[in-house]
Amino acid sequence: MTLIVTGGGRGIGAATARMAASRGFEVAVNYARDAVAAERVVAEIRDGGGRAVAVQSDVSAEADVIRLFATAEQELGPVRALVNNAGVTGGFSRVDEVSARVVERVFAVNVVGAFLCAREAVRRMSTLRGGAGGSIVNVSSRAARLGGPGEWVHYAASKGALDSLTTGLAAEVAGEGIRVNGVAAGLIETDLHAAAGRPTRARDLAPGVPMGRPGTPAEVAEAILWLLSPAASYVTGAITAVSGGR
Ligand code: NAP
Repeated sequence: MTLIVTGGGRGIGAATARMAASRGFEVAVNYARDAVAAERVVAEIRDGGGRAVAVQSDVSAEADVIRLFATAEQELGPVRALVNNAGVTGGFSRVDEVSARVVERVFAVNVVGAFLCAREAVRRMSTLRGGAGGSIVNVSSRAARLGGPGEWVHYAASKGALDSLTTGLAAEVAGEGIRVNGVAAGLIETDLHAAAGRPTRARDLAPGVPMGRPGTPAEVAEAILWLLSPAASYVTGAITAVSGGR
């Protein structure tokens, strides 16, 4: 069963791609720039006897997304699962200082990208269109509810929009064999914090997490894989927090 993981070369996406392969998925590992990281994930999956391919695509670009789905299908077979994981924060900025360029880029990747990938997935999965059904998981953030004050309200708002996509699309295609869910991750140890300019952010904020520590990419991947699996056959429109209680 073919799974596309956007932003699958690093962090939560890479953990998801590896875990999915170990559970029998053929995995298209999408990346934007870091080909080395994506190829490393693919090599690990192949070494373990799985099938995978790395596909460069900027999810905010429609032609790239169309090519991503076509390549995944051609190399691995019909797409039955999608994890909309690619995301950017745009860095830290109060609302009174944020630039139009940052807001536009964050929404282009986190919202437009998720919409385009969901559209291509539904076109292939919907039983109304001759598909065999499927499952979509959107990787959101607890920031959608917490709002990201003083750090990145622009990023939090993009995840709020992503949650609305999850809610609306889940109801729209529930009768067409497709489940759509979200995972709202808390503070997770990945490169995202360094990319935003504060490498120690996850550890610095850990005392504010009821469980007292940041989470790991694998802990988020477990929830994603459960939502993708038949074990979650009656779950759609759910946004599951994986956040240590934060
Ligand atoms: P990460 O380590 O920074 O990885 C981000 C991934 O997204 C990379 O693989 C990157 O590709 C890819 N990406 C970025 N822009 C892209 C684009 N335009 N097209 C395609 N791929 C693109 O981040 P992460 O922490 O694993 O984050 C994964 C998801 O979890 C994001 O949606 C993030 O918002 C969400 N999340 C993270 C946390 C956290 O604390 N880490 C918390 C809540 C939610 P390259 O490798 O090519 O650069």
